[in-house]
Amino acid sequence: MTAKTRIWTPIDFDADGKQVDFMRVPHSTDLSAYGWIPIPMACIRNGDGPTALLVAGNHGDEYEGQVALTNLIRGLNSQDIRGRVIVLPALNFPAVAAGRRVSPLDDANLNRSFPGRAHGTPTEMIAHYVSDVLLPMSDIVVDLHSGGRSLDYIASALVRPGRDVNEHRSLVRLMQIFGAPISFVSDGTGGGGSTTLAAAAQDRGVLAITTELGGGATLSKRGLSLAESGIRRLLDEMGILQGAHVEPPCATRFMTVRGHDAFVYARNVGVFEPAAEVGEVVNEGQLAGWIHFPDVPMHEPERLDFRSSGLVACRRVPSLTQRGDCLFKIMTDLAIV
Ligand SMILES: [Zn+2]
Repeated sequence: MTAKTRIWTPIDFDADGKQVDFMRVPHSTDLSAYGWIPIPMACIRNGDGPTALLVAGNHGDEYEGQVALTNLIRGLNSQDIRGRVIVLPALNFPAVAAGRRVSPLDDANLNRSFPGRAHGTPTEMIAHYVSDVLLPMSDIVVDLHSGGRSLDYIASALVRPGRDVNEHRSLVRLMQIFGAPISFVSDGTGGGGSTTLAAAAQDRGVLAITTELGGGATLSKRGLSLAESGIRRLLDEMGILQGAHVEPPCATRFMTVRGHDAFVYARNVGVFEPAAEVGEVVNEGQLAGWIHFPDVPMHEPERLDFRSSGLVACRRVPSLTQRGDCLFKIMTDLAIV
């Protein structure tokens, strides 16, 4: 038996109505011996039915999801739904408060911490609570991401490959309903692999869809609009949203990320000059960019090429670059089952 969570909340997940309070993560510090970290959480319920778990702020510097879910909490009432919606607009709240991808309390990346540890650091405790308490109550989880400070992303939705044909079809259907311009299937190579919220959900048999809605630690108007309409479509599809007008999804283009060659990484410390933009189609061997060395002006800049052909899904935002930083990721078209 796994250890019991230390996180608690006054929210009663079985009560009808709208409750807005906090997940309380015990955190004992110099100035707050018995204190807790407030993770904002809403539970909106109206009788029996499916449960949707809606998450943003898994990474603190990604904003479209945070704003979409904050608006949703204010706008959605129990009479609008059947079943239950659990909303967490700022899941790794210490990272959200700091405007950072990782938590300043333990330097941990929540979406690399699943399934978490009941008695671990604050970030590990949050991952464990989601894995052991919230996911077992849920039929679907939507985890709203963007590129954060370091990446700018094409507006997209992604799922992990289904473990069987039926699961795969269900996941693909979620992406069609969400209606991002691009939808892609990824096992997390180059990203979080099996340490993500989506991976923890899949292990527990919960359908999970993740998004990338923009990036650069700013808020994309288009990304926000897609998050809001996509969530409503998913809630409608699940039979949770009742009697509301829901605009139909736009057609989506199915793509995939093929292994490590889909990525371009910096091999040196320097200033990154990109030679392609997000959404551009590129070919293998084409110039991807340069790394310049202003500290050694006679040093020739280093040329970097794309290692595969496809569509530029994301590119690095900050110019100052360290060895190993991801500069580009490429997607290719996928025939869908
Ligand atoms: Zn993220």
